[in-house]
Amino acid sequence: MHFSFATANNIRFGTGMLAQAVSEAAQLGRRALLVTGRNPDRAHDFGLRLEKAGIETLRFSISGEPEIEQVAAGAVLARQAQCDLVIGFGGGSALDGAKAIAALAVNPGPVETYLEVIGQGQPLQHAPLPCIAIPTTAGTGSEVTRNAVIKSTRHKVKVSLRSPRMLPTWALVDPELTLSLPRGITAATGCDALTQLLEAFVSTKANPITDALCREGLARAGPALPRAAAQGNDLAARTDMALASLFSGLALANAGLGAVHGIAGPLGGMIEGPHGALCARLLPHVIEANIKALSSNKQPRHCALARYAQAARLLTGSPRASMVDGVGWLHQLIRQLDIPGLHHWGLSVEAVPDLVARAQRASSMKTNPAPLTDNEVTEIVLKAM
Ligand code: NAD
Repeated sequence: MHFSFATANNIRFGTGMLAQAVSEAAQLGRRALLVTGRNPDRAHDFGLRLEKAGIETLRFSISGEPEIEQVAAGAVLARQAQCDLVIGFGGGSALDGAKAIAALAVNPGPVETYLEVIGQGQPLQHAPLPCIAIPTTAGTGSEVTRNAVIKSTRHKVKVSLRSPRMLPTWALVDPELTLSLPRGITAATGCDALTQLLEAFVSTKANPITDALCREGLARAGPALPRAAAQGNDLAARTDMALASLFSGLALANAGLGAVHGIAGPLGGMIEGPHGALCARLLPHVIEANIKALSSNKQPRHCALARYAQAARLLTGSPRASMVDGVGWLHQLIRQLDIPGLHHWGLSVEAVPDLVARAQRASSMKTNPAPLTDNEVTEIVLKAM
């Protein structure tokens, strides 16, 4: 058995933890770029506290999922203002924006130099600026991953800027920050965490540390996600989801993902839909296809099959649940959370062959437990419509 495990230098988790971020930031830099999502008001008080602590604070807002041009503009701003620290405060979009800006601020050339799939994928020459990642959604785990997902409108695809050097310096997770999430965003982002846990659990690169994280994350997310969506002020459910999201990030950064993310990457570049909602619609169909492919390959002992059954028991809380029960539970959850089909976000049947071709080239496909044919991927997408 051989494996390695890397994560952020330091992880702080707990209600009220945001208060600590100011003193941590003061240790790391004196001039910060505070990167937020489309609503910078949520970080208003935090920005004031940074300034009160003597940290000059510039603000930069990412309007949606980060695009190449926004990352480039943020890096120019950080460089011109001689920032020595980047703080991401928001959902995965703000955190990925912050991580990419911290890297590009000190590395030469355009963003594409370092992008996978559509760029040159070159390694970063210099360590990024110190970066503090503070999530306000519970879904992506980006606070502990080594990639930033960036959208290219020109190529109609979302791809990663990935480097072991991009692990944030500090991950600061305060579940209280997620109390304001409305039901739809709670549902979509929570399904992203659930998908990441399930895909990392059956990934071909899973290891004993990621397994332990996935088991714990699944056991928490199963009961907590419906509760957090139904009762947004349930702090215990929010805490479990923040933990499940953190664990999903730790797991995916070290074990990789699978076909759901292989399809969701290009899909997110082709249509405008919340990443977690797209993942949710694909998830049960990918699991069904993987189970079918592994069973028809006459691999009844493939460890992914036993893992799907174990995941079903963890999610449902029933010691007798089977793989099929787990898939049924997921279908029921998606109905309960009112997550619409892919056509709702603008995917047409005509666009499916192009999507399938792009998905087959995605890096996440390589760690899916079963290789899937074009026909199998097409069937998954059509069922998720
Ligand atoms: P997001 O960051 O796009 O935020 C979704 C919405 O929630 C936005 O409108 C935002 O303003 C709002 N919001 C954020 N926090 C809020 C709060 N506390 N209260 C109310 N509203 C709030 O969504 P996301 O799902 O967190 O991130 C999605 C992005 O992350 C995608 O681009 C996805 O590809 C990427 N991602 C990255 C990784 C990684 O490892 N780097 C992993 C998974 C996903």
